[in-house]
Amino acid sequence: MTTSTPETDLGRTRRARRIGRALTETHPDAHCELDHSNALELAVATILSAQCTDKKVNEVTPKLFARYRSAADYAGADRTELEELIRPTGFYRNKTSSLINLGQALCERYDGEVPGKLADLVTLPGIGRKTANVILGNAFGVPGITVDTHFQRLVQRWRLTTETDPVKIEHAIGALYPKRDWTMLSHRIIFHGRRVCHARKPACGACTLAKLCPSYGTGPTEPGAAAKLLKGPRARDLAAAVGIDPDLVPQQAVAAEVP
Ligand code: SF4
Repeated sequence: MTTSTPETDLGRTRRARRIGRALTETHPDAHCELDHSNALELAVATILSAQCTDKKVNEVTPKLFARYRSAADYAGADRTELEELIRPTGFYRNKTSSLINLGQALCERYDGEVPGKLADLVTLPGIGRKTANVILGNAFGVPGITVDTHFQRLVQRWRLTTETDPVKIEHAIGALYPKRDWTMLSHRIIFHGRRVCHARKPACGACTLAKLCPSYGTGPTEPGAAAKLLKGPRARDLAAAVGIDPDLVPQQAVAAEVP
């Protein structure tokens, strides 16, 4: 895109929609990367994901979810046992307190059920606005925008907003897209941030959004160098999508854990 003339609001909205469509094509596999089968499991997994990779959380949760099946189970948990189960996710003492407090609050105020409204969710221990939107979008089918560190970095690189406060970013980006698209848009943006548009050294030369992105050139633009920066099981497909020989993507990039 050219940056010589200031972009109009309409121009920005159109570019935002194009970015959205390109992301849909680029990441057909986008989804919530925290494994869960109900709202309580997602709430627990999201609490565990603070300062931890989703992959590590997913390694811990099968055993945890088999042992703790209800809010009452967390409310009455043996602290030492719970700490031991979630220890690999880090900050396990604080997280244990959050899980026990969450279980108690759900039992005391919501009959042991996770509520499906933002205003209720944010009153629960360990659940901030970001987590509440993840739960709404993925467990209740209520459209929600999840402003995590990847989302924040990417929408700023795309100059879709100048806001820096997560709640203001949520509203600004929400205004650019139909509400029904919010949850999947969030997944796709986060996927792009984890696999292509990294915090340090984004893979600009291997990015399907290059023509729509005012920050093109923040990372290497040479195809061979950029291809090496792609990550995840679809790294070779991502390279092919921009006409780069997939063989330029190293095997370790395909196997790499996304941040
Ligand atoms: S062109 Fe570069 S900065 Fe822009 S979205 Fe792609 S990787 Fe990120």
